Amino acid sequence: MRSELYIDGRWTAPAQGETLPVVNPATEEVFHHIPAATEADAEAAVRAARRAFDEGPWPRMTGAERAKILRAMAEGIRARLPELARLEVMDNGKPLPEAEWDLADAAGCFDFYAGLAEELDGEVEPIPLADGRFTSKAVREPVGVAAAIVPWNYPLLMASWKVAPALAAGCTMVLKPAEATSLTALELGAIAEEAGLPPGVLNILSGKGSVVGQALVDHPQVDKVAFTGSGPVGSRIMASAARDIKRISLELGGKSPFVVFGDSDLDRAVEWIMFGIFWNQGQVCSATSRVLVERSLYDRLLGRLVEEAEKIRIGDGLQPGTLLGPLVNKVQYDNVLSHIDRAVEQGAKLATGGKAQGFNHGYFVAPTVLTDAPLDSDAWREEIFGPVVCLRPFDTEEEAIRLANDSRFGLAAAVMSGDDVRAERVAAAFRAGIVWINCSQPTFTEAPWGGYKQSGIGRELGRWGLDNYLETKQITRLVSDEPWGWYIK
Ligand code: NAD
Repeated sequence: MRSELYIDGRWTAPAQGETLPVVNPATEEVFHHIPAATEADAEAAVRAARRAFDEGPWPRMTGAERAKILRAMAEGIRARLPELARLEVMDNGKPLPEAEWDLADAAGCFDFYAGLAEELDGEVEPIPLADGRFTSKAVREPVGVAAAIVPWNYPLLMASWKVAPALAAGCTMVLKPAEATSLTALELGAIAEEAGLPPGVLNILSGKGSVVGQALVDHPQVDKVAFTGSGPVGSRIMASAARDIKRISLELGGKSPFVVFGDSDLDRAVEWIMFGIFWNQGQVCSATSRVLVERSLYDRLLGRLVEEAEKIRIGDGLQPGTLLGPLVNKVQYDNVLSHIDRAVEQGAKLATGGKAQGFNHGYFVAPTVLTDAPLDSDAWREEIFGPVVCLRPFDTEEEAIRLANDSRFGLAAAVMSGDDVRAERVAAAFRAGIVWINCSQPTFTEAPWGGYKQSGIGRELGRWGLDNYLETKQITRLVSDEPWGWYIK
């Protein structure tokens, strides 16, 4: 486990010598300390990234050359997958098989963007002009120095969604993982080094968001901020970035609906509802936390959901068979439990769940099902970011769509129906950036990811994820010998 920052290709002690404890959320034990970077470290990291961009080889290499290093990084993640997965579980709490999925996806993300880096080579788009005296073309170039700020729910995967496309584009960068889960992000420094990434191209600073995160966002030498996290911090970042007109992309929260029609298969519906809200302990931005069920199916579905939720095996993520681990930390644990209490105070009924029983240590919350949450209650409107789902019956398709879209968020939405035409119609009516039909949550590196409304700005993943790190340049050439005619007639 790393205890130093990664700046300019060197492992470096934080300037102020500060550290943060790393707590295992299943046991509440402090098992490590990570370095806490401050403004001076942000300055050194940005300076290194700037120099690497302005003078170094990385943006000047061909896409194919960069792709080779990205693929070596993918291999580096795969080679260390068992070790990284254990770190992720001890840091974040998630069950080991889920950590293994995440890391396989993270490696796949580096491979995918290696392919897109190769496609950038020689990419020139001729622009047909009506005026025959000129020819024009568009080319794309890296944005410059990117700061990537990521949350704790998928530590290395969220980092990879930003690092892989930024590097593929030819940017240099500073990565700031969440203070709760920095272990695997720091390991990425070692993986990059082994893969042959030139010094200064990827710098990694663990530390507090309000200190080092804010310093990166405020730094005038940073060209682009890519942020995933909460709405309030996203809004603050947007305001700070406005001063220098920095490029920004924001992946924020959600309160995603799942509309289940009465002609759905009950077993399949229960399975996808459970996966949609309980995997990763519900700490998923796209979690389908509002489930709207057609009244004809409502009672049967509620009964089955409660029955199945109560069977979920809760425990330490390293324990074989665990399906639901602890929440990431004490703050999140207190926050989710107070949300459940408030939901009941505001009129919701607790069908099952709340504080998990039988644990002396650890931040365990049982799979929680709420019914009758009023439409203006916090449980129905606010992101809880825990294993808590609200169920509500509906009578007509129009009502379901209206309720689904009645949110300030617009990250994801799901619909299940035996009628494909209806499912497609509802999918088209959702005001959300990610829509699932007959399932909830499957995520693909090739497909765009991001939200409408207050769920964010821009898209990650796929070719859209690469666009975040590219500028488009127009190059126009005069090909006529005729005078222009402004003063020589
Ligand atoms: P958060 O906003 O508290 O923190 C996210 C990151 O921002 C952390 O690295 C943190 O240190 C940093 N940060 C905090 N204050 C900062 C500041 N002033 N300047 C710069 N950086 C700062 O969010 P979180 O609690 O870590 O994550 C949970 C949130 O993330 C949820 O709202 C969730 O929906 C969202 N999320 C969204 C997506 C998505 O793709 N849309 C994915 C995962 C998580």
